[in-house]
Amino acid sequence: MYKRRQCREVSVGNVKIGGNNPISIQSMTNTDTRDANATIAQIKRLEEVGCDIVRVAVPDMIAAKNIGEIKRNVNIPVIADIHFDHRLAIEAIDQGVDGVRINPGNIGSIEKVKEVVNKCKEKNLKIRIGVNGGSLEKELLQKYGSATAEALVESAMGHVKILEDLDFRNIVISLKSSDIYKTLEAYELISKKVDYPLHIGITESGSVKKGTIKSSIGVGALLLKGIGDTVRISLTGDPCEEVVVGKEILRSLDLLNDKIKVVSCPTCGRCNIDLISVVNEVEEKISKMDKDITVAIMGCAVNGPGEAREADIGIAGGKGEGLLFKKGEIVRKIKGDDLVKELMDEIDKY
Ligand code: SF4
Repeated sequence: MYKRRQCREVSVGNVKIGGNNPISIQSMTNTDTRDANATIAQIKRLEEVGCDIVRVAVPDMIAAKNIGEIKRNVNIPVIADIHFDHRLAIEAIDQGVDGVRINPGNIGSIEKVKEVVNKCKEKNLKIRIGVNGGSLEKELLQKYGSATAEALVESAMGHVKILEDLDFRNIVISLKSSDIYKTLEAYELISKKVDYPLHIGITESGSVKKGTIKSSIGVGALLLKGIGDTVRISLTGDPCEEVVVGKEILRSLDLLNDKIKVVSCPTCGRCNIDLISVVNEVEEKISKMDKDITVAIMGCAVNGPGEAREADIGIAGGKGEGLLFKKGEIVRKIKGDDLVKELMDEIDKY
């Protein structure tokens, strides 16, 4: 049974992370943030597929100054991703960003950290400490020999201490490695040390296909341990794919806000309807619906009637036609060509 790790709650714009809030899905734009229009257009697409929070890279002052324009044109909270230069964080905050991803140990003097922290306190913004196996401090690499789970945790705890010493606790932490085992170990270790929300993901997990599989295993394993308050799936591809995959992982574990479930068979030589197209079309059409409903779409009479009966609405395929079930009862036969339309009509009415 799923038992979520208890942690404090942190707000990012109108999205709350941690506590008993739904696990949110994040992504990161891959447009040049200096091109506000392209970045806004991509965030709009991310909103459409259900992204809850978006992060944008802020590599220079032009990008930081664009945050205001971006914020005015999008609806989801925007996080500024900053490395090393605290002035970019200050500018992004002044431009109305909803949170900052910055590692306080990497921005130089404590005075600079204080400046960022005070700004965040003033605007009630969170800071995400994002430790990544690929950019670990040299001393820790020397101490541990490589980016081990312990090294990731020690790095994160160092950043946490800097913020806590400044009486700042509006913190979210991520500890990412491209290695699933290290990631699991690191999150398990840190989850016992702090009560801050955890942003989870397997970093640099690869192309859409490979990365989806790797992330599903890694993120799925963490979620099953009750670890994870916000998720980012890192894929080499369109960021919208990250959101779709993230939502599907949560949905598979019954952790997504929407309740719609599709049960479909893999098809085999017994299938006499174009089940694959029907399932793809129906899944696409219902992806934005928010209904508590299970729909079964099955290929034949072997397992079809059983699954279709268990579902709220079901189809069991026959020879060029499908048998429609509602709440366990056979309702009527539907011609193969009309399956999608009639199934959608039934789902709409449900
Ligand atoms: Fe094959 Fe029928 Fe099972 Fe689908 S339900 S996989 S068509 S036996």
